[in-house]
Amino acid sequence: MKIFDPYELTHRAPNHFSFGGLDRDVISREESNCLDFVLERPETRIVPVWRSLNLFSGALETGKTPVPAYLSTEEATDLIKIAKNQVYLGKQNVANTLISYLAIDISSLEEDEATNKLAPWGKFADLREIGPLIGGIEGSILAYARGIIFWHSRNGYCGVCGKVTIATKGGHQRNCTKKGCACLHFPRTDPAVIMLVKDGDRVLLGRQKIWPAGLYSTLAGFVEPGETIEHAVAREVYEEAGIIVKDITYQHSQPWPFPSSLMLGFTAEACTKKINLNDAELEDAKWFTRSEMLNFEEQEKFLPRKVSVSRRLIDDWLYKN
Ligand SMILES: [Zn+2]
Repeated sequence: MKIFDPYELTHRAPNHFSFGGLDRDVISREESNCLDFVLERPETRIVPVWRSLNLFSGALETGKTPVPAYLSTEEATDLIKIAKNQVYLGKQNVANTLISYLAIDISSLEEDEATNKLAPWGKFADLREIGPLIGGIEGSILAYARGIIFWHSRNGYCGVCGKVTIATKGGHQRNCTKKGCACLHFPRTDPAVIMLVKDGDRVLLGRQKIWPAGLYSTLAGFVEPGETIEHAVAREVYEEAGIIVKDITYQHSQPWPFPSSLMLGFTAEACTKKINLNDAELEDAKWFTRSEMLNFEEQEKFLPRKVSVSRRLIDDWLYKN
């Protein structure tokens, strides 16, 4: 079966951690024996998640490139038994073999247990740190696993009545077990806008006090209830830098499961010039010209990592306009 590829339509490469050709196979999730069926398939790959860390072979070893480490169902038999949650992520055609992916949460293991049991396959590490060292497509499955396992870890109890919830639909839903409540809970993603504000040959960048010295990035913030994403862009830019913007234009997005965001990238044109740090969220905000940014290193400044939406927005402006 051909998998729908949204990037064929846009002709734009997906961001890091984004779509990697996985068919999320929503139809199979509806089967009550979905997880049993996935576990019976010898081609299934088990994606272990331990306390929000992913498993890599070669991780943290000098001279080796980290690679996502998966287990077969046979290798993971004992881990599957103790897994607090299991999530069928979907299926993918890899070298003419249909591979299913099953994420399992083994956070109940103590640190030394998790380390020792998984040692034959790799080490646990933080995808946020390791992500730039691995391919975006490989990273997309790990990001998906980390994000949805995190959601399960925070929704073991009903937010309405406080009773225990149980996972259903292949791990893509949790149902309250209390009769009379029976509330259904679905995985959540927090939309966050991230925007490059332009003013002719310069753009607006800012920095937070807690960031590494010299790092400047695009402005960003969370979308609030009852708000459109365009409104969120305008509001955040005004709150953080006192600038009024127009021509707010969506560019691209990126899942950012650290722990549960979806980054929505925009460009916008400045209507005003004078910077005012209204809400004190930023330590500094400045207009930077193209030539200043191309010589950032000389000024002991640097831009966000290449895998981020922020950097892509900046690089597109720097090199493609
Ligand atoms: Zn309930």
